[in-house]
Amino acid sequence: MQGDDWVIRIEQYHDWWFDNAVEFLGHLLERLGVDVVWDGGISFEPLDEDEVERLVEEIERLIEVKLKYPKESDETGVIEKKWRVYLPLTASNKRGDYKYKYLSGFLGKEPKLKKDIITLLLSDQLNGQKKKKICEICSKSTVLGLIDVTQGVYPVSNNNLESLNGVRSMKTSFKSCLLCNFLGYIEWLDRGIPFTWYMDKRGNSKTDYAYYLFPKIENIQDMHQFKKRLRDDILNEKKYSNVVPISNIKKERYLTDEYSLLLLLFEKMNENIKNLEKWDDLVCDEWAKLLIKKGELRYSYLEEIHIPQIERFKKIFEELLPYSDFVSHSFASPLKEGASKEIIQRLTKEDQYLMSKGIIMDDFKTFSKAFQIRQNCRLSTPKDALDYLIYTWRCKDGTI
Ligand SMILES: [Zn+2]
Repeated sequence: MQGDDWVIRIEQYHDWWFDNAVEFLGHLLERLGVDVVWDGGISFEPLDEDEVERLVEEIERLIEVKLKYPKESDETGVIEKKWRVYLPLTASNKRGDYKYKYLSGFLGKEPKLKKDIITLLLSDQLNGQKKKKICEICSKSTVLGLIDVTQGVYPVSNNNLESLNGVRSMKTSFKSCLLCNFLGYIEWLDRGIPFTWYMDKRGNSKTDYAYYLFPKIENIQDMHQFKKRLRDDILNEKKYSNVVPISNIKKERYLTDEYSLLLLLFEKMNENIKNLEKWDDLVCDEWAKLLIKKGELRYSYLEEIHIPQIERFKKIFEELLPYSDFVSHSFASPLKEGASKEIIQRLTKEDQYLMSKGIIMDDFKTFSKAFQIRQNCRLSTPKDALDYLIYTWRCKDGTI
């Protein structure tokens, strides 16, 4: 038996996905009024029945907010809530029916079952029982059974593709404990993760692309502070993104690549951080980018982004906002008639990606590729903003 001061402790995983999930669980518990100690993980007293009930209510609420989006019906004009089908969480209700209706895994369980699972995991009921099975994600032993790891638990797992399995397991599939399963699923509900989503339509086919940016901050308390700022002051849940450009056009515009997402995020953070002295302590320069691409099947890709000398943005932002003043006003324009609307849109997207990536990665060669004439189109940019940008970014402190 444990003493009165016994606490539940969940150690951090040193993994981009699960550390963000542990932080998110700590955030949810703090919202319930639970005291959470942040130290190499999270510790808290076992939840009582009321706290479990309120945690499940919050999870149910977030499922509606984070996993669905409002869409106007073409036929009736009525606003309907649709699942974000690019996420590996929804399932069709029967074979051959492509209407995505049901959530799979932990998130799809009835509230009563969710309560039972959370009570098992976050209360002390399992205390003292003999633990036998070893989880292949956290390497801890558990009395409960192991469950197959799907993309819903860990988005870059390709459980049924032998050749794509990672170093964690030599087998075609790997299994996790109930806690890893629970954490993996709830991370999809995290409001502290910047994302943007867009649909590419070519011919009759369409592909959904979703970019998610996960901060990589080793100290979990620092990560909590950083994400708290994002949740409270920066990120604003909209239809296709939570980082949306300010626009005077009625129709909302959305970002279409990960580097523009980062650049606009930093601009919004800069606006929010009053004390410029602290600027580089308050922004994050290591990110894990998750791309989920969905046509007929869902594919996920992971890439790390290490931003060189993040403090240089502070100086650039004193003169202009590179995304809002420059990139967002730059478009591909035809040199002569004949370029189709599709080509212009695709080149504009490509050019904006190259410019944002060049600025973020401090790479002038990538930036300048946007200015190459391609397919009878050239880049049209606001001249004053370009001059300001080149001066503050490349010339001001003798960079060149
Ligand atoms: Zn585990």
